Amino acid sequence: MKITFKIKLLVIALMILPIAVMFLSISTVGHLYLKSIYGDVGSINDYEQIGNPVDTLDSILRQEVDILHNLYDDQIIDNLNDKELDIINETLKERNTFLVVKKMNYIVYQGVEEMPMGLREQLPDADKNQGEVISYITSPDSYMIRQIDFQFSDGDAGAVYVVSYMGNVAPKFKSVAIALFFIMVMIFTLISGVLSVYMYWSFIRPIQSLKNGTTAIMEGNWDYKVQVDTEDELGELCESFNEMRDQLKQSMVKQLQDEEKNRELIANISHDLKTPITAIKGHVEGIMDGVADTPEKMEKYIRIIYNKANEMDGMINELSLYTKLNSNAIPYNFREVSIDEYMKDCIDELSEIDGLIIHYKNYCDESTKVTVDPEQLHRVVGNIITNSRKYNDKEVCEIDVHLKPVNDMVQISFEDNGIGISEEALPNIFNRTYRADEARRSMGGSGLGLSIAKKVIEEHGGTMWADSKLGVGTTIFFTVQMVQDNKEATTDV
Ligand code: ADP
Repeated sequence: MKITFKIKLLVIALMILPIAVMFLSISTVGHLYLKSIYGDVGSINDYEQIGNPVDTLDSILRQEVDILHNLYDDQIIDNLNDKELDIINETLKERNTFLVVKKMNYIVYQGVEEMPMGLREQLPDADKNQGEVISYITSPDSYMIRQIDFQFSDGDAGAVYVVSYMGNVAPKFKSVAIALFFIMVMIFTLISGVLSVYMYWSFIRPIQSLKNGTTAIMEGNWDYKVQVDTEDELGELCESFNEMRDQLKQSMVKQLQDEEKNRELIANISHDLKTPITAIKGHVEGIMDGVADTPEKMEKYIRIIYNKANEMDGMINELSLYTKLNSNAIPYNFREVSIDEYMKDCIDELSEIDGLIIHYKNYCDESTKVTVDPEQLHRVVGNIITNSRKYNDKEVCEIDVHLKPVNDMVQISFEDNGIGISEEALPNIFNRTYRADEARRSMGGSGLGLSIAKKVIEEHGGTMWADSKLGVGTTIFFTVQMVQDNKEATTDV
């Protein structure tokens, strides 16, 4: 249920419920109250009558009073029809009311066995001209008296009195009002209790849970999970919060790992740089001390210094490239090229390395084109081939380069007959600064070559992996994206 809907529901509940409950309780209690005073009140409107007992009495006696009017009002009566009066009196009794009839000053009919105290004396005299008169007696008890005048056939004035006892109206009204008040308080307490519980579960609990989540993160507890119980916007917010926490946690972990790897990289690079620097320093000192005392020795020393300086230059270049690639500072210039022509060109160029033979085989269609950055891909191919040459103990380093289509990619493999890589070392060769063993440090290189190559291939949308057997050789594989519609493509190679 959405929050907007819940709020609407709450507002409606807050507005309608108390009013409905108020009307319901007034109606129920009011009806009971009226019934307790006047007997069966039929279809009387409780809301109007409850505050006005006199009006109520008037309404509920109306029918009988009207009958009396028809019978007596402005009539000349020979003799009283007691039976009819008895029937009306019976009905009125249920409403705390009874009839009295007077002829001149004498009571000729009374609907109660014994007249209440003081009533006889205070009943007004019959007066044939008055019509219906309402009067009240308050002492010692309260009565409301309706007087309907008529005339007896002998000329005497007569009157029918409808006498209603009012003595218990006010106290009952008071006790009903008190009862009503308590019922209302109870109902309001109940409604507000139910609404509070509803508010707590719908709004307060998820917000509290979110607050606990943020506090936990502030305190460094990345494992705290916010409970999601609702399916509304707050529930969605809690879920987004949990997702955000997961992502933050992942990036924190990655950041820590990166920092650790960077520390490792710096330590390795400084260590690697130290070796050529020590060699350069040693040979320069040799020259200064006059150890290189012949032109041949001098040339040898200078060549060593030059080679070591070149080695350092290569390391620093790779490190700088690696940093740029990682910070995406190198823009890629992707083009569609014929993979066959491109690879042939690369191999021609690299075949010039001493002691290297490359066998090339293309199993793809000759017209196959791929989308690559030629310059960056050249770096990858160069790194793989120079590694094969570098880590090779044979007289001639042989490399089989194969191209074959795999789904919408071209897979390129470089299989050499080198020293191979051990099973334990193989999964790590694409890690930064990893070298299969210490002995291989002497072969130069920064240890960043394959990790740079992998990053470049991944930026091309491809993958890179290796297969190797110690003492037998190594195969490095990578894939590049094939151009789907060769007809529209243009060849740049
Ligand atoms: P390096 O600068 O040390 O050559 P690379 O990232 O290019 O760094 O290679 C990482 C490690 O993988 C190398 O130190 C080496 O141990 C191993 N390696 C890479 N290519 C080969 C190969 N063709 N034959 C044997 N070992 C290899």
